[in-house]
Amino acid sequence: MSVYWNSRVRRLSPYIPGEQPKDRKFIKLNTNENPFPPSPKVVEAIEAALTEGGGRLRLYPDPACTELREAAARRYGVKPEQVFAGNGSDEVLAFAFGAFFGGGAESGGPAPAEDDGGGAILFPDISYSFYPVYADLWGIPYRTIALDENFSIRPEDYRIPSGGVIFPNPNAPTGRSLPPAEILSLAESLEAQKRVLILDEAYAAFGADSAVPGIKGHPNLLTVHTLSKSASLAGLRVGFAIGGEELIEGLCRMRDSFNSYTLDRLALAGAAAALSDAAYYDEINRRVIRTRERVSAALAGMGFTVIPSRANFVFVKPPAGPAFRGGAAFAKALRDRGILVRHFNKPRIADYLRISIGTDGEMDLFLTACGEITKQGG
Ligand code: PMP
Repeated sequence: MSVYWNSRVRRLSPYIPGEQPKDRKFIKLNTNENPFPPSPKVVEAIEAALTEGGGRLRLYPDPACTELREAAARRYGVKPEQVFAGNGSDEVLAFAFGAFFGGGAESGGPAPAEDDGGGAILFPDISYSFYPVYADLWGIPYRTIALDENFSIRPEDYRIPSGGVIFPNPNAPTGRSLPPAEILSLAESLEAQKRVLILDEAYAAFGADSAVPGIKGHPNLLTVHTLSKSASLAGLRVGFAIGGEELIEGLCRMRDSFNSYTLDRLALAGAAAALSDAAYYDEINRRVIRTRERVSAALAGMGFTVIPSRANFVFVKPPAGPAFRGGAAFAKALRDRGILVRHFNKPRIADYLRISIGTDGEMDLFLTACGEITKQGG
């Protein structure tokens, strides 16, 4: 705490991202990055953006992100006016919380038990841990809804009065997904309350069905996407939202009250190229899916509990060994062998680990390490 901080900053409990080590070389299976390089067309487009016209970096970038939005619109079969781009989907999510959730009158934090939920937004108890951070930042009350005993979202639990709903599909860190029909039906029930459903599709390209085709009849549905995972561009920081034009305009109002140029020229050029090279990405992501299925079966064979995943990670519970118990001890044993995975020290999931899917070679080393740890007990 500092005397210079105002009460808003004092109240924040910021999100803690997964480790990006600099000291030694690890096999990184902790932040859901794609193990394959981005499309060569992305690198070409960035190089061209750097040099063309004698170097246009002296000029501001296009605040409307026109080329990127057109590329996303072609890829998803929507109009450019239905696309909003931002500096990573985290930024898009932050704007969406600010634009569509909370009235400004309520105060943030978990909603009191006696609250009927009318003003509080809803998200799952086990989900992306940035959601409560954004809610607190904007002073939006929230209530978490427990996943069922299989770690599935039960959409019917969200059909109650609320300030809006957000969850990822597939959910993170569980990897489980819901069919779009169930999501669209929930959007309809929220539309009756004039509330927004934000669907975070960060991992949808790894085998789940996107709800984007349902945008047309659902003006209160905003889908949020990222190039960090499926387009191998976590380092470029590009995300986008697809939704009805009223929602997109709301996001633009937020951005233009904050920073008109959230995406730089290099990011805009690289992202448009990535969105235009579906063939390359379909191929590498098919490989990630194949590896995920192989790793899931191998871990189940070693006695792990494996939640069926539609994402580029698996959520697993290691078998308890004589010298270790719980996810933290197993994560440490892997770290000692040069492999980073993600452990969340939270109720219900402290025994679990989230393992990002790497290359086949990386996953073979990971599986060998798991075999050693389960045999030796740590
Ligand atoms: N949503 C979910 C569910 C995520 O796991 C992540 C990655 N941490 C993001 C959004 C944000 O991704 P980015 O900001 O890299 O686009």
